[in-house]
Amino acid sequence: MERMTIEGIAAASSDALLGDYDVVIIGAGPAGLSAGIYASRAGLDCAILEKGVAGGQVLTSLNIDNYPGFPEVSGMKLMESMAEHARKYVEIKEGEEVIRVRGGEKFEITTPSGRYAARALILATGGMHRKLEVPGEEDMIGKGVSYCATCDGFFYKGKEVVVVGGGNTALTDALHLESIGCKVTIIHRRGQFRADRHLQDSVSQRGIPVLWDTIVEEIVEGEGVTAVRLKDLKTGKSELKKTDGVFVAVGELPSSQLAAELGLEMDPGGFIIVDKSFRTSVPFVYAAGDVAGGIRQIVAAVHGGAAAALACFEDLMNPYYRR
Ligand code: NAP
Repeated sequence: MERMTIEGIAAASSDALLGDYDVVIIGAGPAGLSAGIYASRAGLDCAILEKGVAGGQVLTSLNIDNYPGFPEVSGMKLMESMAEHARKYVEIKEGEEVIRVRGGEKFEITTPSGRYAARALILATGGMHRKLEVPGEEDMIGKGVSYCATCDGFFYKGKEVVVVGGGNTALTDALHLESIGCKVTIIHRRGQFRADRHLQDSVSQRGIPVLWDTIVEEIVEGEGVTAVRLKDLKTGKSELKKTDGVFVAVGELPSSQLAAELGLEMDPGGFIIVDKSFRTSVPFVYAAGDVAGGIRQIVAAVHGGAAAALACFEDLMNPYYRR
């Protein structure tokens, strides 16, 4: 890894050095916010860099009913509270996309506005939507293909839509779309959902039709999406189904480009490998939340962020109980 001193970082860049921290946390979803609270409270000088707004993907969840202490809360509300809590302790720099990280005596973190230096890094970069990778999908993004029912569902009120997938996201999306007046069909590649039982029960109570053992082969383009070509995996037959919108909910891929730049060990799916303290394979780099895989729940991300921050504190400060 290229080594660079703090003076070197400043000299090598015409951009100002915007901050020099004990730890920089990348990503302000549940893992990053939790890491910020724990790192700051432990006495580490830290900042959170977030490419968008604080909250991460949870912001788009209409309803969350499995985060302890909040029997029913919108993703927006939960994450606003979490961000407000974090801001009591740590600065969250929003709109600061990290475009490069380099290791060395200090880590150098580059964003379009400049550079930061840090003794340690916590990666909480989350994930991105997996695509179906079928003809028509890429062309029709925003013109009938969506990865966010909460964001785009409203435009399909009264129209026919399909939701592709069989996990918690697909069923939550289908229930949301049905509740706002869309005519929804779920398309799932197997004969069984992997979603939680209570979501499966709600889907069957609401009478949402499901096409089992079926895959989407093509999204048919006209003026917007006009149909999907479906293949029944049991019979092998393909046919067109008319639809105005396709909501893709087939899981997540980790946002691990920065991890790759740092040479962190990753599993075959691209998730960062961490130990039980959320240390990665590179000293002073930690990872938590969806980018580190696992059960990918808010509660797990919050745990990971806290544990990563505490491991970082131990490594940087070498407290008496570890000597
Ligand atoms: P997921 O649990 O990974 O489910 C993805 C679904 O898409 C699976 O049913 C999978 O089918 C299907 N799929 C994957 N690739 C496909 C392809 N190329 N073509 C067709 N279908 C494909 O993803 P998720 O539902 O987005 O959930 C992600 C994580 O967030 C999970 O841990 C989930 O529990 C969590 N989450 C939780 C909640 C909640 O607790 N309320 C809400 C949303 C998400 P197979 O089943 O055949 O593999």
